[in-house]
Amino acid sequence: MSSTLGGSDFISIEALTSQVTDILVAHRMTPQNAQIIALTIVAAEVDGSRSHGIQRLGGYIGSLNSGWVDGVVAPVVEDCSASLVKVDARNGFAQVALAAASELAKSKARREGLAMVAIRDSHHFASLWPDVEPFSQHGFIALTMVNSRSRMVAWGGKRKVLGTNPIAFACPRKGRPPLVFDQASSVMSQGDVLLHASRGDKLPNGIGVDKDGEPTVDPRVLLDGGALLPYSGAKGSSIAFMVEILAAALTGSRFGFEDTSGVFPGAQTSNAGQFLLLIDPNHVAGEAFSDRVEQLISELTAAGTDRMPGDRRYQCRAAARSNGIQLDERSIAEIARLSNGQTCPEGKSK
Ligand code: NDP
Repeated sequence: MSSTLGGSDFISIEALTSQVTDILVAHRMTPQNAQIIALTIVAAEVDGSRSHGIQRLGGYIGSLNSGWVDGVVAPVVEDCSASLVKVDARNGFAQVALAAASELAKSKARREGLAMVAIRDSHHFASLWPDVEPFSQHGFIALTMVNSRSRMVAWGGKRKVLGTNPIAFACPRKGRPPLVFDQASSVMSQGDVLLHASRGDKLPNGIGVDKDGEPTVDPRVLLDGGALLPYSGAKGSSIAFMVEILAAALTGSRFGFEDTSGVFPGAQTSNAGQFLLLIDPNHVAGEAFSDRVEQLISELTAAGTDRMPGDRRYQCRAAARSNGIQLDERSIAEIARLSNGQTCPEGKSK
């Protein structure tokens, strides 16, 4: 297995993490903050979630170079009550804020049965499952929501107001990896639209509209001032609304439509908020909980469900751990481009 890009198609997880970390450090991130973000980018490649892997690296760099996001800032964690942690990300990345609050949140949930983490003034540009899966590995049920800049027309609406607002849920399992789902409120994530655009593929019908609100299957037209549609019509809209309330109104962050990144050329991340709820099932259902989870999954399996959410990712992860990550040509070219000694223009501060 090659440990460098350009030789074999495969690269080790460690080598890719180190390469991505170096690129981020070269674009105004501290090594500590850069490594946290690199781990989420590489985790997406490892788990076959390519929409939020290397494809996104240029977007992080664009936001860093423009001064829209702060890569060096340290978040401020506020221990507010027995079960509430607030974090001011100070215009930094949400994952850095969550990492700073994680141990405190776990200790509160362990003691009180539940804990809420409210992150404000933060940028999230990644998949959400890396934020919740580790908590379930420690026995917690974890639910998180992030609002993003407005990219979606609410059901019945005429223009975009809501973000594609993802939700991720993780549930611990007995002797098995946690069951995790992670999904956008839109019928397709923005990252998948970008993947279609980069590959020159058309979108399926019913994904989005152009800037005049007319249906389009051209991803470039959608990205050029158009918008995505919510999944399952009014139901997806309601979920996106709830995410906007919990991740933005509750935490003290911007709504998606309050995005001002337009004055920072190249900025691609959203300055928004994140909501996280941790539950220790031992305080509620006691030891019966894990048996009840397995009972439900067995019943679903017996009824014909051939895979649970997260199973695909775990299979990809096992393969990547054995063989390394197989990057596509675009990703290899993107890493080469971003490693190629680019300098940062002086960014405006937010
Ligand atoms: P997908 O539609 O690809 O998948 C959604 C969920 O459904 C996953 O948990 C997936 O599990 C599960 N799933 C898919 N097919 C099946 C099946 N046949 N049986 C059982 N479960 C299944 O995700 P989205 O396109 O909605 O979102 C992609 C990513 O975009 C997410 O990671 C999300 O966090 C991210 N995102 C991030 C935003 C941000 O601002 N940071 C904004 C919006 C989205 P599995 O993983 O195993 O396939």
